[in-house]
Amino acid sequence: MAGIVGVNAIAQNTTTWQGRQCAVVLTYDDALNVDLDNAIPALDSLGLKATFYLSGYSGTLDTRLKDWRAAAANGHELANHTLFHPCTGSLPGRGFVTSDYDLDNYSVRKITDEIRMTNAFLKAMDGKTERTFAYPCGDTKIHDTAYIEWVKNDFVAARGTQPEMPAIDTIDLYNIGCYAINGQTGAELIALVKQAMEKHTLLVFLFHGVGGGHSLNVSLPAHSELLHFLKQNEKNIWIAPMLQVAEYIKQFQTGLK
Ligand SMILES: [Zn+2]
Repeated sequence: MAGIVGVNAIAQNTTTWQGRQCAVVLTYDDALNVDLDNAIPALDSLGLKATFYLSGYSGTLDTRLKDWRAAAANGHELANHTLFHPCTGSLPGRGFVTSDYDLDNYSVRKITDEIRMTNAFLKAMDGKTERTFAYPCGDTKIHDTAYIEWVKNDFVAARGTQPEMPAIDTIDLYNIGCYAINGQTGAELIALVKQAMEKHTLLVFLFHGVGGGHSLNVSLPAHSELLHFLKQNEKNIWIAPMLQVAEYIKQFQTGLK
């Protein structure tokens, strides 16, 4: 019987996550300078590819367009984080949301026009026609209306913000959860990866500041420790941008039907 259990374990490992134990997606939000100055050099030094959720209005898309284009040419995903990053201002802790960009004041037409405008902008930057989306602040609705319904065909997947490590067959491709990182140590980040390896799940990291640049921050040493652990375990962990992982999940889930 032990042999049969062994065969099943191998079968599970070879049919999910490109034959590896889990998938890890590194995502970086809001087009910060530190993405270009700290995160991308660290990723590139190890040959790891990540996803960057960019809002069209972000200053770095103007001032550092060449750097973003170089990142895309080097295999990183430039992904859609809307044009103006609207969030629901009525929720607790949302004092930073101005009335002009309060999702409560938006129409579906307005948000979907802005999302499509951002896709056109990103296409002008990288020439790509497929990408993923991330909900600003994780807010998926205008009042009771889930706006993704109008733009699902424009994206392979969308990332939310609920912390979870789902198995491949249970992932909601249009609200993929993630772990928002703020102040964790390298050991704590690596512990999350080990959990995903044990459970054979998807694990998505969400970073804002990397070595500064945002009030939600990961230190450079913690970020570096995580990346080195991923690189050292590349044979067992599939590390790829959200687009590639989401396409794989979509194929897998379609195959199950
Ligand atoms: Zn954001």
